[in-house]
Amino acid sequence: MRKILTIGEILVEIVATTKGNGFLEAQPLIGPFPSGAPAIFIDQVGKLKTPCAIISRVGNDDFGQLNLNRLMADQVDISGISIAEGETTGSAFVRYQANGDRKFVFNIAHSACGKLEDNPNIEVLLAQCDHLHLMGTALSSPGLKNMALRAVQVIKARGGTLSFDPNLRAEIMTPELCSDLKMILRQTDLFLPSGDELFLFTEAKEEQAAINELFVLGIQEIVLKRGNQGATYFTKEQQINILPHHVDELDPTGAGDSFGGAFISFWINGYSAAEALRYANAAGARAVTLLGPMEGTSTQLELDQFLAQ
Ligand code: ATP
Ligand code: MG
Repeated sequence: MRKILTIGEILVEIVATTKGNGFLEAQPLIGPFPSGAPAIFIDQVGKLKTPCAIISRVGNDDFGQLNLNRLMADQVDISGISIAEGETTGSAFVRYQANGDRKFVFNIAHSACGKLEDNPNIEVLLAQCDHLHLMGTALSSPGLKNMALRAVQVIKARGGTLSFDPNLRAEIMTPELCSDLKMILRQTDLFLPSGDELFLFTEAKEEQAAINELFVLGIQEIVLKRGNQGATYFTKEQQINILPHHVDELDPTGAGDSFGGAFISFWINGYSAAEALRYANAAGARAVTLLGPMEGTSTQLELDQFLAQ
């Protein structure tokens, strides 16, 4: 069975239980929940029993242990996660505003996962894995960027595949980040943007024209996530639309990562694009019904039951 690797941040998320404007007064909170987009993605892959691993770094503290325990329980190979003595695991405090927007207080860049270094276990994983999934944040610090670029090179040179989910807003795009991400994009087999992320790297500002522009770069397959509007799968030859499930959205965080983990897991195990999309659409919809970013990842049984409803 092919093994999937990802690289990136592991953190805890602590959520305000009331809506409002940020954290300027004492208030009720719930958490810590295991989190970090790459961690949610790989947890979803592990829950579907596809061999998988994550390269990351946590502090020697409860926030790190909480994540290690969860990932291990869900069958993720954690040998590539270093435990940094005397450092702190990343964290994010999040509070929803009345209009659905989120206010964050992050500790990521200066946390343990912001200082990823090489270690011998990483070499073993690079030699074992046949597919690499990257997110925009994998290029956000120099250490992480060098590691991500090397992983692309090693895994692609062995005939492996690369998927890429930008997972970032246009407002934080700098010219340097854009040019680094374009380098990744040119080697991407499967691209998974969400909404307007489709246009982050294109001149075109219209959907089909942007899709065509991305195919010219060498991308083979694109899955466009459309939030509560469902999703669309594109190749040069075909297009498959899937309608959303009607669910009560309790916490949208992590929907895209659960969707991506499910799509790639089925895709890599030889299911048709239509089947992979059907499962991914269910994984994304189910994820938003549960509070906490990683709480909504699903087993195959949970997806089958959800789809049978
Ligand atoms: P994230 O916040 O994790 O980055 P994203 O923006 O990458 O999310 P979305 O497009 O929000 O990804 O969600 C991914 C998929 O999950 C959608 O394409 C859809 O299939 C499903 N989904 C998300 N939200 C809903 C919803 N409210 N109802 C039904 N399905 C949903
Ligand atoms: Mg996303």
